[in-house]
Amino acid sequence: MDAQVTLLDQLFDAGLLIDTGVDGLYGRSGLFEDVIARFDALITSFGGQDGAEVVRFPPGMNRAHFERSGYLKSFPQLAGTVHCFCGDDGAHSNLLQCLETGADWSADQQISDVVLTPAACYPLYPMAAKRGALPAQGRLFDLMSYCFRHEPSRDPARMQMFRMREYVRMGTQDEVIAFRKTWLERGRELIGRLDLPFEVDVANDPFFGRAGRMMANSQRDQGLKFELLVPVNSAVNPTACLSFNYHQDHFGSVWGLKTASGEVAHTACVGFGMERVALALFRHHGVDVETWPASVRAALWG
Ligand code: AMP
Ligand code: ZN
Repeated sequence: MDAQVTLLDQLFDAGLLIDTGVDGLYGRSGLFEDVIARFDALITSFGGQDGAEVVRFPPGMNRAHFERSGYLKSFPQLAGTVHCFCGDDGAHSNLLQCLETGADWSADQQISDVVLTPAACYPLYPMAAKRGALPAQGRLFDLMSYCFRHEPSRDPARMQMFRMREYVRMGTQDEVIAFRKTWLERGRELIGRLDLPFEVDVANDPFFGRAGRMMANSQRDQGLKFELLVPVNSAVNPTACLSFNYHQDHFGSVWGLKTASGEVAHTACVGFGMERVALALFRHHGVDVETWPASVRAALWG
């Protein structure tokens, strides 16, 4: 049995995660959710004084916005789209018959206007652009959403549906780079308070295909993405728990988002993998939160 299966089994056995029969799709216990809620509050204790505008989107987004964002160009393998039955009575009979016989019942499913949100910030850029040019000081948002990525795995840290909390900065290049630098420091301090071992490293997104390899290299060479990694399943391949992304003017260009002085806006975001941090805590401090180090309990439960 490999280490990944063992950790997942331990989490099921402890009742922290609940098996649904699909890898990467789990129920969460009350205790698991409490740890996530406390970590959420800890993030706010670091970022709350910045005056970010709080916005919450549902875990599905406008398909037209998703298409325009470029997600399918870079990550077609991860996308999840919502399809719905749009047939008549005859098609319904056919569907029922297929279910009966175990045949493919999806013939009358049609793509809907909704796709599953791949990262909390994707629905935000069109919303912000619709408001017009940024104010003089730019904008700062606080987001959280369940996200979907089609990457089924027995590694409990690689889920198909998970929550991402984000702060997103929109402004000039200098403003968004300063934002990212601040959060690189805060992220270290925050995870340090949880007494978790970590390292921060340059990273790349999993761009698809051969062209994707070049995009990944370029992203690394330019230092556009950093991750804060904590060993969760493996000491050799630590897990990205926080991400610090500088998008340059990608979303500004796509959405026609301008700064107050009329330049194309730059954007950056810091993303917190809520389940990954909870899993790291259980992994390093044990499944019984009563026995966690006092300093960690104080950071979370105050
Ligand atoms: P990314 O947009 O890939 O940088 O993701 C932002 C954050 O979401 C990462 O730093 C992770 O903590 C978390 N995350 C990404 N993919 C997954 C996944 N499959 N399961 C759980 N958390 C994830
Ligand atoms: Zn983001």
